[in-house]
Amino acid sequence: MRLILLGPPGAGKGTQAARLVEKFGIPQLSTGDMLRAAVAAATPIGRKAKAVMESGALVSDAIVEGIIEERLGEPDAKNGFILDGFPRTVAQAEALDAILARKGLKLDAAIELTVDAEKLVSRIVNRAAEAKAAGKPARRDDDPEVFKTRLAAYFRDTAAVTPYYRAKGLLREVDGMASIAEVAAGIDAALAKQS
Ligand code: AMP
Repeated sequence: MRLILLGPPGAGKGTQAARLVEKFGIPQLSTGDMLRAAVAAATPIGRKAKAVMESGALVSDAIVEGIIEERLGEPDAKNGFILDGFPRTVAQAEALDAILARKGLKLDAAIELTVDAEKLVSRIVNRAAEAKAAGKPARRDDDPEVFKTRLAAYFRDTAAVTPYYRAKGLLREVDGMASIAEVAAGIDAALAKQS
């Protein structure tokens, strides 16, 4: 199963991806996680990406396309994968098509978690508060002001990715504002329909 999870930051992609990992036994490939690891390890990519990520803007297409191509070549991605946070621009979507074509692979579906943008801001404020209560460091880009920049980047650059996959007949829309269990059921139903 080769899937893409689409939807703005805070839509619940990470939560749903973790469940799909269990269900299908395939890895979740999150460019956000990979970039945060690169920042933590202060690699050359991490040093380049750090300030951009903290501002809530998008890292360059070339950087994320490079890390995804490398990651897709690893053995655990052979039987499938769930892309979370990539592609975020139409250029990245085209690059992904080229990478998969070189490997002779095809996507099964792009699942979009649809949201109410205003409610998302309060969801993210809660996420930051929960992380703090659990003694975990809150993500710096979950600060409400930075979050609004991330949301704006989504609507400016990433909203165009949805029609890209709709045109290919791969898009499956699921209401991301429903409960975690309902979203999970919606995703399962969408995937069952196509197989
Ligand atoms: P995320 O955890 O997916 O919300 O990503 C956190 C941050 O990493 C984003 O706000 C961007 O700065 C950067 N990032 C993650 N994925 C991408 C991508 N596909 N293209 C550009 N920037 C990305």
